[in-house]
Amino acid sequence: MHVPPIPTLTAADPQLAALIESEAKRQHDKLRMIASENYVSTAVLEASGTVLTNKYSEGYAGKRYYEGQQFIDPIETLAIERARALFGVDHANVQPYSGSPANLAVYLAFLSPGDKVMGMALPMGGHLTHGWSVSATGKWFTPVRYQVSRETGRIDLDEVRDLALRERPKVIFCGGTAVPRTIDFPGFAEIAREVGAILVADIAHIAGLVAGGAHPSPVGYADVITTTTHKTLRGPRGAMIMTTAEYASAIDKAVFPGLQGGPHNHTTASIAVALKEASTEDFRRYAHQVVANAQALAAAMVERGFELSSGGTDNHLILADLTSKGIAGKPAAQALDRAGIELNYNTVPYDTRKPFDPSGIRLGAAALTTRGLTEQQMPQVAAWMDEAVSAAVKDDEATLDRIAGEVSDLLATYPMPGYASA
Ligand SMILES: *Cc1c(COP(=O)(O)O)cnc(C)c1O
Repeated sequence: MHVPPIPTLTAADPQLAALIESEAKRQHDKLRMIASENYVSTAVLEASGTVLTNKYSEGYAGKRYYEGQQFIDPIETLAIERARALFGVDHANVQPYSGSPANLAVYLAFLSPGDKVMGMALPMGGHLTHGWSVSATGKWFTPVRYQVSRETGRIDLDEVRDLALRERPKVIFCGGTAVPRTIDFPGFAEIAREVGAILVADIAHIAGLVAGGAHPSPVGYADVITTTTHKTLRGPRGAMIMTTAEYASAIDKAVFPGLQGGPHNHTTASIAVALKEASTEDFRRYAHQVVANAQALAAAMVERGFELSSGGTDNHLILADLTSKGIAGKPAAQALDRAGIELNYNTVPYDTRKPFDPSGIRLGAAALTTRGLTEQQMPQVAAWMDEAVSAAVKDDEATLDRIAGEVSDLLATYPMPGYASA
């Protein structure tokens, strides 16, 4: 049963309520390893589902365009103050609707159409909004793209520097969506300073690790930090932009009125709750456990013959090339889903296959760590993955179904926030 319970919705719209209940059970029964996903707390869920969704609040606290902000202003201010304290930044804007609009606000604040922006190429682990061709950011601006080294699977900062000196981008993005290694923020900052570019650290994936002290912080190095709030940070779907005092007003103007109308106040409140949770000792332990679990899983996967991009991980994320397993990423991901193991197919650096049918899979340990799994279970997880991938090669659906049963049996003993069995 969904927690908090949804009896009114069940009476009013049984068809929809049944779908929500099914999704809650699915999230309970499956080993969720999509690297960008997590389980939020019941407190975060409660804040997301409040009457705050009824309120329009264009503007910022104390400078709104609608009346009735007596309680919204302190809610947004609380979220901002908690973000500032948690990350140690001068300024935070908590209004971006999600990570992509947060990054768009950066473009609007600092670039004119056609200007050069430098980011990691999408197939190397970068994000669409870092100037990839199908994104508005790649169509309306001039992208300059860095790669990872073919040998190490890691960013080569000397190459980044050469490219930056040659191309002179106005903005440099670091961070990505399939980057299993520590981002060298001081290294990027030095390059940005050399070429006079604004450095943006997009920590969407690793924000929770940064908050919990399990990944170095970009604060003091990046001029602007963008992040989603719903990945390792374990909040509602949303985003924040954090800046030095110097860039605060440029970013605020870009978010509103530049790009957005009214902020989603129920989300703002929910972000505030998540930020309070993320400032606890419990969350620090969580962040370190995420990394320990990912590293234990990576080691167990290597032992079972999986080929990992860059050979392992420093964070929550693992990128595996399945070529040596005799299967492509997509059929493997589909088979794994049937086996109760949910992840996504993904390009690997220098992939020879097409983006919609790539060679790899991407997985992460954020959600399973929230469930309470530790290093102890990771060899079993790797064994299931190995067995499921072999079964997929042989079209052995019975084995996939058997694994799904074993996965859900294991997870039955690990409670899920947002769901109560029976
Ligand atoms: C997830 C992600 C985003 C975009 O977030 P959405 O909320 O999906 O728009 C931006 N940048 C990076 C690096 C991401 O991983």
